[in-house]
Order: sequence, then C-alpha cells, then structure tokens
Amino acid sequence: MKKPKICLIFCGGTIGMVRNPSTGVLGPAQDASEILRLFPELQKIIQFDFKVLVNIDSSNMSPDIWTQIARKIHELYDLYDGFVIAHGTDTMAYTASAISFALQNLNKPIVLTGSLVPLNEIGSDGRNNLIYACLTATLDIAEVCIVLSNHIIRGNRAKKFHESFSALFHSPNFPVLGELGRPIKLEDWRLKRRDRKLKYEPRFDSNISVLKLFPGFDPAIIDKVLARKAHGIILEGFGPGNVPSNIIMQIEKCSKRGIPLVLANQMEKGITNLTSYAVGFEAFEAGAISSKDMTTEACVAKLMWVLAQTRKLSEVKKLMESDLAGEMSI
Ligand code: ASP
Repeated sequence: MKKPKICLIFCGGTIGMVRNPSTGVLGPAQDASEILRLFPELQKIIQFDFKVLVNIDSSNMSPDIWTQIARKIHELYDLYDGFVIAHGTDTMAYTASAISFALQNLNKPIVLTGSLVPLNEIGSDGRNNLIYACLTATLDIAEVCIVLSNHIIRGNRAKKFHESFSALFHSPNFPVLGELGRPIKLEDWRLKRRDRKLKYEPRFDSNISVLKLFPGFDPAIIDKVLARKAHGIILEGFGPGNVPSNIIMQIEKCSKRGIPLVLANQMEKGITNLTSYAVGFEAFEAGAISSKDMTTEACVAKLMWVLAQTRKLSEVKKLMESDLAGEMSI
C-alpha cells in the first residue's frame, strides 16, 4: 500500500530545544533535522520530508515568518497529503490562526504541534505529540489544527491554557475536533477532505495595537495609539465587551478617522456582546466592531490579515464580522 506523504515544517519551540549545560536554560538546538531520526516507527508507515524554516523560541515568531510558512506550504501544497508544523506553544495559537487566514479552503490538514519538555529529555511529551500530529495529518480532516494534550483543536479557536501535559491548550468557544487515542476519534463537525480550490493570501499588516482595559484606564492611551498611526486597534473590554464611558469619544475618533477598533473581551470563555449593557451599546454606537466569540489570538491574526486586504473601514468591518475560516460562530 502507498504510504501517505507528510511534510514536517520545523519552526522551533521547546520540542527542538536543548538545555544549556551551565545555565540550565532552554534554547534552540543547532541541528533540528536530527529530530526525524528519532522516529523510525513513524517512517515505516508515513513517507516524510523535513524542512527547517526557522529554529526559534516562538516568542520571536512574527507576521513575516507567518508569511514564510504560508508560502512554503503553498509551494508544496500539491505534493503532500498533509503538513505538520513543529512550533513553540507560547504563540502557537496566533500562528495557527494566521495560517488559517492565509490558506483558506483547505482540502488537507495543516497540524501544529510542540511540547513542554524537549524531545531529548526524560519524560518528554514531544514524542507522543509529534507522532499524533503526523498521524492526524494523514486523516480525513481539512483544516488548520493543533494536536496537543490528547486533543485535536481547531487552530483559530485555540488558547494556551496551562503548562501541563493534560491541559496545555483549550478551545473555549468551539468543541474539540477529535480525541487522540487508539484509534484517533474524529468529530463530525470537523472540515473533511474534499475538492476545494485553495485561497492563498499570505500577507499581514502588523501595524495594529492590542489594549486591555483596566479600572483607571487613561483614554489618552488610545490617542497615543492613534498618533502613532496604527491601522487598527483591538481593545479587550470588561465582561462581554463593556467599556468605561470616558473612552467613547476615543472610539468615535477612531471611526471618524477610518481606523477599525475591534472590541474583544477579557473573559476566559468569553463572547463579546455589545447589546447586553448600555456601557457596551454606547461603544457599538460609536462604531466599535464586535469580536463575537473569537479568541483575542484569532482576532489579532485576522485583523492583520484583513488590513493587508483592505483599509476601507466598511470592508474591514464586514470581513471582521464574517466567519472566514471557522474562527467565529455566526
Ligand atoms: N518558549 C517556548 C516557545 O514557545 C515554549 C514551548 O515551546 O512550549 O517557543
């Protein structure tokens, strides 16, 4: 039987790190390609190619590297049955979201995975994670997903939750796509493989600001962001997106200047609803765009992606409020 063909794109993270013997601190390994040699059993059932794109702690991930990842997958798209991206967990939810916007209408899976403990250390979760990520990449699933902690999660719904093997990521507003085990159990609401025309648009405009409200927030902070000519703002409001009345003028100023202000929320399992309280409705009337049930991570990647397509406020609003890649429930 023909073995499925998977391309493993290495982007770094703990999974490929080694410990500095004198400080004990983790940093990227010199030769990441060593990794595949550790998986002889996988190579019996899957045909692999391995590409090192970058080898960084994911705190150094950037929209430019998202573009490089999307380009690489686009270039190789027809050659493989699925893709696996090894990536640090700290910013994995941002990258997964970004790739889901850059490569829409997938007909095969793009699976991100990583680990808490480096592969070459005792008790590493990396081995299992990588094996399950590769197996998932051969299955009937056609979306960007994260495989960690016994679950398959839609990438643009994921949030890093806890530094523990069992609950590293969660998906607060969307059910998991599958459960890892023998066999892997896939849920019916996942997107399945079928003939779709890939939509490829890998650019991002990173000139945005993300602000978090707190009691005593100085409205002049928004003026400062406007003065530095940000192209868009994400503001995490209280509860379901409520804001203090002293920032309404700034929200209006954003609308008048054509700068999208997306109102998100600070809740762990939060849905933004600007019509439940007067303090949210005022923001809505002043022109704030609701993040609905998107995670802030998905919002960041989406706003950057949308702003690279258009700077026209009405078009930005329309795209931000539409479900583009499963990131939002309508
Ligand atoms: N700091 C690491 C990173 O995100 C953490 C990890 O890989 O889990 O690259």
